[in-house]
Amino acid sequence: MTSPAPAKRVLLAAPRGYCAGVDRAVVTVEKALELYGPPVYVRKQIVHNTYVVQSLEAKGAVFVEETEEVPEGSTVVFSAHGVAPSVHEEARQRGLKAIDATCPLVTKVHLEARRFAAEDYDILLIGHEGHEEVVGTTGEAPAHITLVDGPEAADEIEVRDPSRVAWLSQTTLSVDETQETVRRLRARLPLLMDPPSDDICYATQNRQTAVKQISAQCELVIVVGSRNSSNSVRLVEVALESGARTSYLVDGADELRDEWLDGVSTVGLTSGASVPEVLVRDVLGWLAERGYAETEEVVSAEESLLFALPVELRRDLKAARQAAG
Ligand code: SF4
Repeated sequence: MTSPAPAKRVLLAAPRGYCAGVDRAVVTVEKALELYGPPVYVRKQIVHNTYVVQSLEAKGAVFVEETEEVPEGSTVVFSAHGVAPSVHEEARQRGLKAIDATCPLVTKVHLEARRFAAEDYDILLIGHEGHEEVVGTTGEAPAHITLVDGPEAADEIEVRDPSRVAWLSQTTLSVDETQETVRRLRARLPLLMDPPSDDICYATQNRQTAVKQISAQCELVIVVGSRNSSNSVRLVEVALESGARTSYLVDGADELRDEWLDGVSTVGLTSGASVPEVLVRDVLGWLAERGYAETEEVVSAEESLLFALPVELRRDLKAARQAAG
């Protein structure tokens, strides 16, 4: 007698998807389009998600790489990842109406960088070279900041004065890998100062904890997110480190492959902080068509944080309401 095939099911990690900073940035562009009318220019991808960018383009947003591409006098939104002070200055010089959708948790890291630099500390910024957030934070104090891109890089770092050195980090890193980088830095720099509070944001931490919780039970973990989304890429790494046999990052259901399901009874599913839930629902639909209709949501934390819209936009929205009577 053969034993019955194991039941097929999906474990859905929670929290997943949109964080407070992404929600605010996307709503900022939508409200700006409503208020000022298209086109509204957006410097860089507002958040690192292809679907979100294409949806906003369809409503009249125009994405550019640099401020100099924005026609003088136009409205420009700065993305959730933050910009260097020089970008604000450039926008002023071009007479642009700038709306800053930088996530407040990225702004917090900028302020920490400014403060440590004002006290003449060397700042070791743990992050990924070339990532927009790292470029923006470094722009706050370029003479004081050295990038540390991973644990191995920690062993090479030189500082001016080992008694005046602090570390900061990109908000979307792997929690475990960052702890390892700090451990290696501190082994060489015992007086290394910590940031006043965690730089890796609550959303990144919660999504990593949630995927850790399901991964050991899953032969396959699907992460919905774009390839340039740092926190989404980290979720694949965390899934594999936490016991998943395989894990793939997909932009949407159309990238899924039937062969990934060979021999799989439990599929884990999560999404990065810039991913709308509709894309997760599409993946659930695709899985249900293949027999994975039973879904259990595994909740490891509740989130209720919301950020107010950028002050420039709130002011104009209020004026428009008053003008309308
Ligand atoms: S991932 Fe974190 S830092 Fe980035 S936008 Fe979301 S809340 Fe802000």
